[in-house]
Amino acid sequence: MGASELHYFDANATAPLRPEARAAWLAAEENLWANPASPSAAGSRAAAELEHCRSVLAGCLSAMPEDVVFTSGATEANNAVLAFEAERHPAGAILVSAIEHPSVLEAAQKFWKNRVHLLPVESNGSVSLHALEEILRAHRDISLVSLMAANNETGVLQPWCEAAALARNHGARFHCDATQWIGRLSAKEMGACDYVVGSGHKFGGPKGTGFLKLRAKENVAFAGQVGGGQENHRRAGTVNLPAITGMLAALAAGEREMELLAEEHRSARAAFEQRLRLRFPSAIIHGEGRERLWNTVSVAMPRHGNLRWLKRLERHGFVVSTGSACATADNKPSHVLAAMGCADEVARRTLRISATSATTAEDWRGLAQTLEVVARELDADAEENATGVVLLP
Ligand code: PMP
Repeated sequence: MGASELHYFDANATAPLRPEARAAWLAAEENLWANPASPSAAGSRAAAELEHCRSVLAGCLSAMPEDVVFTSGATEANNAVLAFEAERHPAGAILVSAIEHPSVLEAAQKFWKNRVHLLPVESNGSVSLHALEEILRAHRDISLVSLMAANNETGVLQPWCEAAALARNHGARFHCDATQWIGRLSAKEMGACDYVVGSGHKFGGPKGTGFLKLRAKENVAFAGQVGGGQENHRRAGTVNLPAITGMLAALAAGEREMELLAEEHRSARAAFEQRLRLRFPSAIIHGEGRERLWNTVSVAMPRHGNLRWLKRLERHGFVVSTGSACATADNKPSHVLAAMGCADEVARRTLRISATSATTAEDWRGLAQTLEVVARELDADAEENATGVVLLP
């Protein structure tokens, strides 16, 4: 089944390429394929386009063009920031929220070793600013605070802007993994963060491209990768200009739609959740009481393991996820839900549903309906199983 025949609800893992991004990407592969670092005329044209992309992205982030470094994605950028800050502050400590992506949590362990403090989350999926301030007061050696903008599993928005101010007041720098926020919600306030990380493929750009926003003047020594002078010596390696143009086209499309479609997206999701509550009264919507990304629903279904739901839904043409891609691969219960105090057994019944910008109210209605069909199928399976009849997988 092609992506277009599927009702795709796994955008937090990756989103399909937006048509605008495809057009920009192909045009650049055709006309701007020269290496921007090359002194040839074609190289200069590519370099000019690269700088144009940098200025546009800087504008979206309320930053200066020289603050933008293009990378292969969010994982690379998160690792680079944590490694750089760990080296800058050999006696400092890092405070990371417990619900960060593994590219932050594991980088913290690797580069900061026994200098890692964990910022807990409340059962509603959000960190508490009060807890953040307490920890900053108690541990004066904290030099970097890492808090994501929106969680990839629950969609819960984090108070990153206020957290950035608190970190600054306590003399610490603030790193925000905004991978799930950028392209879906306005990035205008992101200038408040010392470091911002984004990834093109989450909002309809090509895979393998992303960016880091830093404060260039304060970070002249920053070198995420060495071995070439690209990106003003801050990220060695040939720049993937076609992918960057695609990412910028996707971002521009997302920014244009943000205001226009926000209400539509929100009300389609709200109607879905209302029906879910009605038909599955004991289902638990994680982070329900908090403001969440308009595209995300993380729900513990009342019965049956999430993989069984996922497989059955896919047979009906609906693609959802069981959590983050990493947790799915290891079949480990999610560290995000665990941090929220959710029991393993509940986490194992949890589906992560994440729409794309092209998802319609009809798709959401179809998903709600199909969940009911699948519930009956799984119940029937379980009943047969109880009578000892061998089941189809
Ligand atoms: N951070 C978050 C919050 C994410 O959701 C993801 C993707 N799952 C990443 C980082 C990694 O992004 P990339 O694929 O660009 O390396």
